[in-house]
Amino acid sequence: MFDRLRSAISSVTTAVSHRTLDVGDVDEFLLEFEMGLLESDVAQEVAEDLTKKVKDAVVGQKIPRSNDAGDYVKGILKDSIKQAMSEAPQVDIIQMIKERKSAGGIFTIVFLGINGTGKTTTIAKVAKLLKDKGFSVVIACADTYRAGAIEQLTEHANRLSIKAITQRYGADPAAVARDAVLYAQSHRIDVVLIDTAGRMQTSKNLMEEMGKIVRVVKPDIKIFVGDALAGNDAVSQAKEFSQYTGFDAAILTKADADAKGGSALSIVHVSHKPIIFLGVGQDYDSLVPFDVDRFISTIFQ
Ligand code: GDP
Repeated sequence: MFDRLRSAISSVTTAVSHRTLDVGDVDEFLLEFEMGLLESDVAQEVAEDLTKKVKDAVVGQKIPRSNDAGDYVKGILKDSIKQAMSEAPQVDIIQMIKERKSAGGIFTIVFLGINGTGKTTTIAKVAKLLKDKGFSVVIACADTYRAGAIEQLTEHANRLSIKAITQRYGADPAAVARDAVLYAQSHRIDVVLIDTAGRMQTSKNLMEEMGKIVRVVKPDIKIFVGDALAGNDAVSQAKEFSQYTGFDAAILTKADADAKGGSALSIVHVSHKPIIFLGVGQDYDSLVPFDVDRFISTIFQ
């Protein structure tokens, strides 16, 4: 996982620790470093920011040919990446749900993201996680557009012995979401998970559709689901959803197959929202909390 980002970082530290640097050297290896970040799916603005921080730290300083210099630069990089990742607010859905439950209320989550990212599987994984934590869950199949979406989600729900609320294709997604909330109220269910259509990530329709769901069910949080393998596409989707519908947190899927690692950094940077879970496989238990320190130690190995 995340090998390429790790190698971009180690290339800078190797260059620093093996040369006495002048501005020419710095520019040369920083260009290489920046290219490495871009190839690892780090967004341009983040790559530029990190490169500038390294440059400010090393130019004009006498860097000995010792490992200490490399460690010094590594420390600067680490702090910069940690700062970039930590600027988003913390979102602890388990805690939020617990608090809502003890106040006697229902917690609603809307999932956003384009098709193929792993959104349906992720909803099932979150449902399983919540069930394992002792919460009762209902799923709203509010993607009434994509052929097969309702059957796919219903199948996951059946396997997990969770109720799925459906209507016919073409039905109003907000009506499906509302049905699920009504079901939760009458059956004392703790959490409503709402799937949405993701076909129009840039259009006004999407905004209107999400706007309606939000007005009708007033979700407690909106979670963007992005595919780590989509690289920069995932980053631009995060940007667009962030702009058009807003979201509170993100889940990055297929991190198990992501050799690059930069999209996590980029998504947080463009949305200013935290990544709360990583999808790390196809089965329902392959969902792990995203941990900034673990992410940093993986790429700084
Ligand atoms: P949707 O169209 O966004 O609802 O996507 P699906 O949930 O149907 O997922 C698309 C494919 O990605 C399926 O084959 C999933 O098993 C797979 N998938 C989803 N999440 C992960 C993950 O975290 N890791 C891996 N390796 N595959 C995943």
